[in-house]
Amino acid sequence: MNRAVAIGIDLGGTNCRGALVSQSGQVSGWRSIETELTDNLTVFLKSLTVFCQDLRTAAAEMGLDVVGIGCGAAGVVDPSGKIRSAPNLQLLNRFDLQGHLQRELNSPALVINDANAIAWGEAQYGGGQPFDSFLTITLGTGVGGGLILHRQLWQGKYGGAGEIGHLAVEAEGRPCGCGSHGCLEQYASGQGIVRTFQELGVGRGANDLDSFGIADLARQGDPLAQKAFDLAGRYLGQGIAGVVNLLNLEGVVFAGGLSGCLDLLLPSLEQELARRAFAVNRQQLHLVKSCLADRAGILGAASLLFDRLEHR
Ligand SMILES: [Zn+2]
Repeated sequence: MNRAVAIGIDLGGTNCRGALVSQSGQVSGWRSIETELTDNLTVFLKSLTVFCQDLRTAAAEMGLDVVGIGCGAAGVVDPSGKIRSAPNLQLLNRFDLQGHLQRELNSPALVINDANAIAWGEAQYGGGQPFDSFLTITLGTGVGGGLILHRQLWQGKYGGAGEIGHLAVEAEGRPCGCGSHGCLEQYASGQGIVRTFQELGVGRGANDLDSFGIADLARQGDPLAQKAFDLAGRYLGQGIAGVVNLLNLEGVVFAGGLSGCLDLLLPSLEQELARRAFAVNRQQLHLVKSCLADRAGILGAASLLFDRLEHR
């Protein structure tokens, strides 16, 4: 019986979640810590080391062998595992996290962008399995993306590929944290939908709802809430049309917490796609929702580590 596991980690701006993952995708020993408690890099790295050691201990107690650590991190990560920029984890800006984990834990380690980890997880165990080439879009606080081309993760030369959230959908639209204007993320993320809803409903006193509250309202028939999701879906359709006209993909997999609201986004998304994408690019395009919930990133990071160990 194969007792090999990898430590899979999803390192975000507010939480770090981790678990032990077998090559067949079985997950055990979930752990979670908060990541926003310090802005001191040394303290942060120490807590990450303790986190990994704790998972190693858990593996030993279960009779499992840890082969290494796969980590999906929020930020642009170059193919050597160095974090080039991390707006939501600024203390890791320009830090070689992969090299650090390898040295500190004396173990193989792999660090990739968190949305890329999700895309790989979907390719191996989730909604992307039937497709040779597809895009994963993570809908949550922000909008992330990961590209699988011919069953390989496409990170780009320096790790900046797949960022569909930063396709411009409004030439002079809302300013974005990336420095541009009118990025898809500013309209189709949870925060973007909240902002649209507030702008549509000025004076109606509905300023305390988050995107899920607005989704509930939309399902109850509230026209402004429906309009906020319609607009988000429309911008998503616009962005996806551009991507499929460029790449002629087989599928788009929607992941992230807000993918649970795909029913509210799809009508205007599909309408926009029909208006903008070449028929040959949209007729065979499958739009599917992730079935891995919040496990995709951890599964993907661990699975990609197994893959790299096999092919090195
Ligand atoms: Zn942007």
